Amino acid sequence: MSDRSHRITAIPGDGVGPEVTRSAVRIIDAAGVAVEWEWAEAGAEVFKRGDTSGVPSETRESIERTRVVLKGPLETPVGFGEKSANVTLRKLFETFANVRPARELPGVPTRYSGEGVDLVIVRENLEDLYAGIEHMQTPDVGQTLKVISRKGSEKIIRYAFELARQEGRRKVTAATKANIMKLTEGLFKRTFEEIATEYPEIEAEHLIIDNVAHQLAKNPAQFDIIVTTNLNGDIISDLASGLVGGLGFAPSGNYGDRVSIFEAVHGSAPKHAGKDVINPTALILSSIMMLRHIGEADAADRIEDAVLVTLEEGKAATQDLVRQTGGDVAQAASTTGFTDTVIGNLGRHPTTVPARHGTERPSGPATPRPRWSYAPEVYAAISRKTIGIDVFIEEDTTADALGPEMEALAGADLTLQMVSSRGTMVYPSTGLGSDDVRLWRCRFVSPTDANVPDHVFIALLDRVAGRHPGWTHVEKLHVFDGEPGFTKAQGQ
Ligand code: NAP
Repeated sequence: MSDRSHRITAIPGDGVGPEVTRSAVRIIDAAGVAVEWEWAEAGAEVFKRGDTSGVPSETRESIERTRVVLKGPLETPVGFGEKSANVTLRKLFETFANVRPARELPGVPTRYSGEGVDLVIVRENLEDLYAGIEHMQTPDVGQTLKVISRKGSEKIIRYAFELARQEGRRKVTAATKANIMKLTEGLFKRTFEEIATEYPEIEAEHLIIDNVAHQLAKNPAQFDIIVTTNLNGDIISDLASGLVGGLGFAPSGNYGDRVSIFEAVHGSAPKHAGKDVINPTALILSSIMMLRHIGEADAADRIEDAVLVTLEEGKAATQDLVRQTGGDVAQAASTTGFTDTVIGNLGRHPTTVPARHGTERPSGPATPRPRWSYAPEVYAAISRKTIGIDVFIEEDTTADALGPEMEALAGADLTLQMVSSRGTMVYPSTGLGSDDVRLWRCRFVSPTDANVPDHVFIALLDRVAGRHPGWTHVEKLHVFDGEPGFTKAQGQ
């Protein structure tokens, strides 16, 4: 045990949050780790006071000071705040890596018991559809921007490989939908393939995300570390929790360059709040990840062993586990009872799970030292030109009426290449159909593939807007180093 004292921000949160947080804090204190807890508020009560972020300034200041947070679940009350306080915390402190281990636990029977499931989902935590950039293009068509950056991808992928190295794991699987979203998920895949070459001792494989879901259900023990984009990760990490006993047993850590936040995967489970019945294991396991992160590996090992002994012996099973095993719920342990039992088991070792010691034992990820491939001089060397523009127009018309009209507006430096509806080319007609949703994309390009100066686009927009006031947005068509930075329409 380290002899230095740690300052940690503890956020009890909403619903069952205070009960599970109290349990984890009691166990850490009982294990003898010197922690000065800074108790801070976030969530429902904060929203009710009219703070629309759900995270008051005192809490932010505490996190700035301590840089480590143990957090109960936060409710997002409908009608008070617009954004989730959880997402606000992640974004405020740039915790880019969401790490969710899913490991078979003794005494927690599942369909996969005995198969040795022991995997970690490493989910990019800030980008993708969670950028939250959404617009209604028409009263009836919504659109969200899926933002994937090379830097964000590199950061999370390097993190996954570093974690594999640190934990002595042999394989990292990238899970993407690069076959469909070639420029966003594809960028993630290409970055993965590049970075994998720096870790030759670790097997690197890429699987399409839907196949990963299938393989997880069929044979989860084949996976070691799965690294993936935000939405994919959100879905498969809940799936992975289900493989090893459910939400009561699913821990997570959100790691950033400066701040890390540890929380259970589950929410505030309001119907169980204040009854002393909730299973605190998920937050206790999260707090073990936290202890490893702050350099308290011995205490983390002792607590982990005590939890495993408690589960293995099954004498203090909480309601959720008793229900899963078909036992008598009236005999279930309370949250406090479970916590007392774990504390009583400190110093004991489990007997039915393989002992993992020293470096073989998961010890929490190190902060990777990223080396961005795209340094300023690399950016400067990339050749670029803009060869056209997509103009999106809301209009109650038909493709056959709109196409010729747009051809007439194209001007001397541009030509209308096509009109599409929901990504399918509908002019010139290919015979492929797409239901008319009153939103059309008109693609204008340079007939000679030349770079088109902005004044040409502005003049085009001026002509289009004069006749079609329903134009709603534009996208430039870039070519970087000879590679088109845009996709073709279906049928093009
Ligand atoms: P939830 O709070 O996770 O609870 C859903 C159900 O899962 C519970 O009713 C309970 O099932 C089971 N469960 C959850 N935690 C458990 C535990 N520790 N032990 C045993 N069983 C557990 O999901 P929700 O009801 O959808 O969400 C409630 C609120 O939490 C929402 O406001 C949501 O926004 C918020 N939330 C916050 C976070 C976070 O802070 N990170 C995450 C997710 C959701 P039974 O009913 O079968 O007993």
